[in-house]
Amino acid sequence: MKNAISVLGSTGSIGRQTLDVAKHLSIPVVALTAGSNVERMAQQCREFQPLLAVMGTEEAAKALRLVLPNQKIQIMSGKDGLLAAASIEEAATVITAVVGMVGLEPTLAAIRAGKRIGLANKETLVCAGQLVMEEADRYGAEIIPVDSEHSAIFQCLMGCQSRSEVKKLILTCSGGPFFGKSREELRNVTKDDALKHPNWKMGAKITIDCATLMNKGLEFIEAMRLYRLPPEKIQIVIHRQSVVHSLVEFVDGAVMAQLGTPDMRLPIQLALTYPNRLESPVEALDLLGCGALTFQQPDEETFPCLKLARDAARLGGTAGAVLSGANEAAVSFYLQNIIGFYDIYELVRLAMEQVPYVEKPTLEEILEADRLARAVVADYRRGDLT
Ligand code: NDP
Ligand code: MG
Repeated sequence: MKNAISVLGSTGSIGRQTLDVAKHLSIPVVALTAGSNVERMAQQCREFQPLLAVMGTEEAAKALRLVLPNQKIQIMSGKDGLLAAASIEEAATVITAVVGMVGLEPTLAAIRAGKRIGLANKETLVCAGQLVMEEADRYGAEIIPVDSEHSAIFQCLMGCQSRSEVKKLILTCSGGPFFGKSREELRNVTKDDALKHPNWKMGAKITIDCATLMNKGLEFIEAMRLYRLPPEKIQIVIHRQSVVHSLVEFVDGAVMAQLGTPDMRLPIQLALTYPNRLESPVEALDLLGCGALTFQQPDEETFPCLKLARDAARLGGTAGAVLSGANEAAVSFYLQNIIGFYDIYELVRLAMEQVPYVEKPTLEEILEADRLARAVVADYRRGDLT
């Protein structure tokens, strides 16, 4: 089908918004995947009637078969299922909205199947950006970013003839829920404090990443890979209002920005309709009502994860996989109240020190670096870091 989509991670924040957009534009949905949320997957299957539905485990897939007894939908599980959904023949576009490293292999499968990728899963580019971009070149697969900052840059670069015209990319950052707080004040913040993001409603992992500013660090590397620019050509600025989604400065001094209400359905829709723009239900930006727009320097002393990400960006090789893998594991500990806020930073730093570095890694070496980074975090016992 010409414009049909497959949605990896359909029960999550980006996945659900993707289905909203698909419904609004009457785009057929041919495959859906989730981790363990059987109930929501069952609802989505009834509504969108995909050809294929995939759950994270066989147990969850069995439960889904039980609640959907008379449907013609094929139900699969695990990695095989994810790879099948990523490369399903009937889809033209695959939206990668699973969270974390689990998105890497399906993204590569979708690229090799020649799909357009609507890329939300930033961890994929942080871990294996060079490899992913090389495969996209080889198979002629289009990668359209869904992350709002990278979509903004993508839009600012429309019509740009050559990368040499770009002086720098300017990534905006809301500053997260703890903007302006001191290290002392942040030492004992709980996950409930961290889960209150001022401007966006997102999944738990990315919301914690926004609180530590690791999210912006991951996005820094994501931008380097997507736009093939060195770290010195990317700047991060704090912009509390989340109205300017990012900017591009050109060599002649012109600066282009993309503005809009903070609503992920806008970048998601563009990934589905590009190069066209269609009407959307997203609320229009009220320039007169949105107040003053401010821009500030990020505080890397209070939010040291940003510094770690810059180090990983400079190092390249397996450093991104170690940064991202250790962060995923540490954030999961933080969400279970096993570690404190700054332990996330300490654990990622430890993993970056301990996991051997490989300069030009193969896919296997990237997966191994991720595994070792998670092992460093898992070896941690409460109290070790204090
Ligand atoms: P959510 O946690 O809301 O959703 C994650 C999705 O992945 C769910 O469908 C979940 O299934 C599924 N999933 C989780 N673990 C596994 C697994 N092991 N195997 C298979 N599927 C799994 O995340 P978000 O939607 O917030 O984020 C998704 C990606 O998009 C992330 O990489 C994030 O960084 C990026 N992103 C998100 C933005 C946002 O506004 N939310 C903005 C920009 C980027 P289940 O529901 O069953 O657990
Ligand atoms: Mg973003």
